[in-house]
Amino acid sequence: MTMTPIPATLIPGDGIGPEIVDATLAALDALKAPFEWDRQIAGLGGVQAAGDPLPVATLDSIRRTRLALKGPLETPSGGGYRSSNVRLREEFQLYANLRPALTIIPGGRFDKIDLMVVRENLEGLYIGHEHYVRIDGDPHAVGMATGINTRQGCRRVLEYAFETAIATGRKKVTLVHKANIMKVLTGLFLETGLQMYEEKYKGKFELDTIIVDACAMKLVLNPWQFDMLVTTNLFGDILSDLVAGLVGGLGMAPGANIGADAAIFEAVHGSAPDIAGKGIANPIALLLAAALMLDHCKLPEKATQLRRAIDETLNIDKVRTGDLGGTANTAAFTKALVSRI
Ligand code: NAD
Repeated sequence: MTMTPIPATLIPGDGIGPEIVDATLAALDALKAPFEWDRQIAGLGGVQAAGDPLPVATLDSIRRTRLALKGPLETPSGGGYRSSNVRLREEFQLYANLRPALTIIPGGRFDKIDLMVVRENLEGLYIGHEHYVRIDGDPHAVGMATGINTRQGCRRVLEYAFETAIATGRKKVTLVHKANIMKVLTGLFLETGLQMYEEKYKGKFELDTIIVDACAMKLVLNPWQFDMLVTTNLFGDILSDLVAGLVGGLGMAPGANIGADAAIFEAVHGSAPDIAGKGIANPIALLLAAALMLDHCKLPEKATQLRRAIDETLNIDKVRTGDLGGTANTAAFTKALVSRI
């Protein structure tokens, strides 16, 4: 059966980006995933070719396809460039950041983890309204930041989280806040979530609320009590890395940025300049991001097939890259993976 082609933008990115993208394309080809790739540049490559880490052609491509798989991007230091990742979030209103954490290699300190973090991606203390105040000749005597959460911004990420919880069979959603201290900024998020639950979602899953500091402690003491966490931008940034640590670190962590105008899938780690070009990078985070992309494109069987192949390659064939204590290089891991698809 031939499937309808799905146009998608492909950004290999910087450092190990092209290496892990090649591995991911090999797996997607073996799966016969129907993506029709439009290859574009960004990051350092964009600066070199077009004088901009996010060239117009790349933005136009995502505007057209509304779907992208991207390798890590380096933001050049100096030159006044803003982070390409932040620009992409703003440009395409990528308001929800989805960060699943799933134990793939059993026997670690935390076994059988299956957690989802949904982070608000555009508001809160990350909006960049920051400035210094000069006092008595000290230009940096005071540092100030303003956070903004809006009812509409809270609603859309909470709705995304609640709908995803239902669609993926999550039993419990925990709303993480700090409304005891930041009564307005994170109180609005809490209030909106509780209201929406009462109005529309009651009985479809259990809703719990927790203060962020207690949540961090409980995640380390007993992560199995959580199922899905939904929270504001800053807390989500921190907690999603915490849960990535529970399942083996950033090398295994995929991320999806879901928005009104597009969805962009990526590995959470950076361009790893220290190992770039050596052919030893672990492609699993980007492969898992591709699995999220398949889910997003309503191809769940292919997503499951890809996740199963990764699991079998790691745990039955015991083929692992160096960061996971193995001896395989990227090519050997990819070959083993493709033979499992
Ligand atoms: P990094 O994630 O690139 O690397 C941290 C460490 O983890 C390094 O030792 C690296 O070798 C290792 N590592 C990372 N990914 C790996 C993989 N797939 N396989 C094996 N080892 C891996 O973080 P960094 O060094 O702080 O950042 C490097 C650059 O990446 C910076 O320019 C940063 O701005 C950028 N960055 C981009 C993104 C993104 O595009 N989403 C995210 C984070 C950092």
